[in-house]
Amino acid sequence: MNNNIKRSWAEPYKMKMVELLKMTTPAHRKKALAEAGYNTFLLRSEDVYIDLLTDSGTSAMSDQQWAGMMTGDEAYAGSRNYYHLEEVVRTIYGYKYLIPTHQGRGAENILSKILIKKGDIIPGNMYFTTTRLHQELAGGKFEDIIIDEAHDSESEFPFKGNVDLNKLEKLINKYGAKKIPYVSIATSVNMAGGQPISMKNLKELRALTKKHGIRIIHDMTRVAENAYFIQQREKGYEHKSIKQIVLEINSYTDGATMSAKKDALVNIGGFLAVNEWDVFEEARNMVVVYEGLHTYGGLAGRDMEAMAIGIGESVNDDHIKARVGQVIYLGERMIDYGVPIVKPIGGHGIFVDAKKFLPHIPQDNFPAQTLASEIYLDSGVRTMERGIVSAGRKANGENYYPKLELVRFTIPRRVYTQAHMDVIAESAGRVYEKRNKVKGLKMVYEPKYLRFFQAKFEKLS
Ligand SMILES: *Cc1c(COP(=O)(O)O)cnc(C)c1O
Repeated sequence: MNNNIKRSWAEPYKMKMVELLKMTTPAHRKKALAEAGYNTFLLRSEDVYIDLLTDSGTSAMSDQQWAGMMTGDEAYAGSRNYYHLEEVVRTIYGYKYLIPTHQGRGAENILSKILIKKGDIIPGNMYFTTTRLHQELAGGKFEDIIIDEAHDSESEFPFKGNVDLNKLEKLINKYGAKKIPYVSIATSVNMAGGQPISMKNLKELRALTKKHGIRIIHDMTRVAENAYFIQQREKGYEHKSIKQIVLEINSYTDGATMSAKKDALVNIGGFLAVNEWDVFEEARNMVVVYEGLHTYGGLAGRDMEAMAIGIGESVNDDHIKARVGQVIYLGERMIDYGVPIVKPIGGHGIFVDAKKFLPHIPQDNFPAQTLASEIYLDSGVRTMERGIVSAGRKANGENYYPKLELVRFTIPRRVYTQAHMDVIAESAGRVYEKRNKVKGLKMVYEPKYLRFFQAKFEKLS
């Protein structure tokens, strides 16, 4: 009897077209990395073997999506693909009114301009770079109300994306509900490592905000991945489908901004969705200024069609199980090699703890930047720094010294195979074995804004 043999899952798709990868030699990578100033952002994509820089816009579309692109209705006004997308946003996401935008930040811009007045406070479960910037540009101030566990790489709490309701109540008491146009809630909190918020927490948050007449605006960029963690971890949801869970999550919120470049499986696109007619009317007017007419919002008809189909595929149970399953598989292989990673494993990537990996390198010599360089040198795998370089400088010119010094291995959706995951984990394992010999970096060029994109480094001898 073979009853003891486990039942593995595999990718729920097969390949019809492939993109050939360039295989590089160690000598080639050494040269390419030195030319890039030891900054993975400055590498040419051609010199990269497996690209884990981001999961944004890097998904593989399905044959159905590609076929849908051929049905693009490129009329300036009233494209049929807009109406298809509107119907999908209503039935799958449960929001009433749709305003398409070129990507997530386009929606953030419009929403922030409409809802935020100068001096307003916008509480949220951890900041996101573009979201916070648009809130600030509109005159608001972001306040972090995520639970403390989210800032602790050691904590294995299953819902590190949860809101600390006490922190929110304190803000309401201090500023008054009138100063808080909405609470900004992300599902699968990116900056915390893709950590989910629980349904229970969302329900409690809805009750509290309702009492004070405060909206909840949902950054739903990774809602399907969050739904998967609720299905796996939260009591009462184990038999619900991802589709049902996504609808329930959204039902506790009043509107959403979406970067469709993540969960929704397209290379470009996004939208703003709201339930209030007044807000919709203003947004529909404003989108004309910044993006394009309200029935295309900076997108081609074919882009909206690919998005409409991608949204449907993104809430399929088999898809999301394989998507998050691949990330978890990679994390577990890394743990096998002793590589220190942030736990629990999140939905869109593995975050390696560079302070623990390279304890002999002081933060001033950029342990995470160094580790990202070493991984590239070893195997051609491109990752990115999320540590002191990304954190930048304070107004007084001093460096921020963030608690977390991480290297992010972000997994594009449906792009790489399990064998690629093995290669990635082995590379991390190999660098870990020789970690004591790894030397840090010094910064030799520092741009003024968002320095992590363009800074250059040299190896310490
Ligand atoms: C990517 C992202 C955004 C911004 O979306 P863009 O499409 O890059 O403009 C906003 N919020 C979260 C959580 C994201 O991951």
